[in-house]
Amino acid sequence: MKQNVFVYNTLTRTKEEFIPFDAPYVGMYVCGPTVYSDAHLGNARTYISFDLIFRYLTHLGYKVRYVRNITDAGHLEGDADEGEDKISKKAKLAKLEPMEIVQKYSTGFHDVMRTFNVLPPSIEPTATGHIIEQIELVKIMLERGYAYEVNGSVYFDVEKYNNTQDYGILSGRHLEDLLTNTRTLGGQDEKRGKLDFALWIKAKPEHLMKWPSPWSMGFPGWHLECSAMSHKYLGEQFDIHGGGLDLIPTHHTNEVAQNVACYGKSPAKYWVHTNMLTVNGQKMSKSLGNSFLPHELFSGDNLILNKGYSPMTVRFFMLQAHYRSTLDFSNDAMEASEKGFKRLMNACTLIDSLKPSVETEVEIQPLLTRCYEALNDDFNSPILIAELFEASRIINSVHDNKLKIDEANLELLKAVINTFVTNILGLKNEQSSSDELPQVLDFVVNLRNEAKINRDYATSDKIRDGLQKIGFQLKDSKEGTTWNKV
Ligand SMILES: [Zn+2]
Repeated sequence: MKQNVFVYNTLTRTKEEFIPFDAPYVGMYVCGPTVYSDAHLGNARTYISFDLIFRYLTHLGYKVRYVRNITDAGHLEGDADEGEDKISKKAKLAKLEPMEIVQKYSTGFHDVMRTFNVLPPSIEPTATGHIIEQIELVKIMLERGYAYEVNGSVYFDVEKYNNTQDYGILSGRHLEDLLTNTRTLGGQDEKRGKLDFALWIKAKPEHLMKWPSPWSMGFPGWHLECSAMSHKYLGEQFDIHGGGLDLIPTHHTNEVAQNVACYGKSPAKYWVHTNMLTVNGQKMSKSLGNSFLPHELFSGDNLILNKGYSPMTVRFFMLQAHYRSTLDFSNDAMEASEKGFKRLMNACTLIDSLKPSVETEVEIQPLLTRCYEALNDDFNSPILIAELFEASRIINSVHDNKLKIDEANLELLKAVINTFVTNILGLKNEQSSSDELPQVLDFVVNLRNEAKINRDYATSDKIRDGLQKIGFQLKDSKEGTTWNKV
């Protein structure tokens, strides 16, 4: 079914019709995590938002190549190239190899993504796996006069670039404003201009992660990896580039400059940015004491949480806000989402037991159309969820015999639930069969006891051995039979 999707483009600050360069192929690059600490909820929100976009475009029949990188080198503590490499610093503190830090937090990040039912990207490249490609980009920028070398480090010349290009095109800020609002260079600084940024950094002797290059033993600047990897896997120009809103002023601005300097083209047609997660109206941060990790949110093991919430409740909560709005976390909001999610899941379970009537008092086609309209309007998940609550209301009314639905409309209603709840919003019922497993086991144990009473030992042994094979051990005692998992 052809749908006209409109997407808000940060570059033009308008909603534009989504027309890929080479449909049905779509290239999407999203800046991934720097793996030096546990994945936090703000990150989770960003990747859940892009998961929705990935799922919807795929549902519409686009063949999406989704590239989401892992930053495992070159990300310094400060945005203006100051401080230590975040991963090296952590490795030194923990007396570990940097790659042990990378492995630990990459695994943790993947676990969190899986828990939130976020689909893996098509390619997940790492910065350390693309040092050669990054060095090649630095060479091109030096050749084309957009970069200069000082004492083994290479910097991007922002003012020179801005003579022919608009450096602030993505943020909408002019170079003059940016210059006034940036600190003055110190005497030690090797940079020529205040806004210049590092492409290659000469490593100090104690620096742990470094590679040979034509300029020095060193490491790439953080922004470079995304230019190198998006170009390698998606080409000079691709359709969507995404990330959190906080990446616009520096990381994405510098990425655009690097790509234009190398290839004469801005890399992406649509720039999509997700908004921040706040807690009780304040920015979530460790220093404010209002931050918590995904696993603390699941268990409720944090002072600001009244209780724990299931991963799907959290996913639902996040999708109840549009990705461009700030999302404020509070216990009240979470509890409201938990109720809403249960209501939706109950309806999803109930739909299978509905019996069609010969006549119908409800038409589902308009509802289906409205679900598509919601997502076509810049992936508006809160509007979609409101429509799905309307679907739940219909399901409940049919179940209570207050509304008649014929077979064709019932099938369409099932398709709405399956398509939008399961496939596109990526929500699943957590009350899975495993929750009822104890009851099922008790039932089987009772059957075995009946067999024993009837002296049907062949059957009772068969049940015991069968359970043993799938990992459940039965123990007979005077009080009765108990089971446990082995
Ligand atoms: Zn990036």
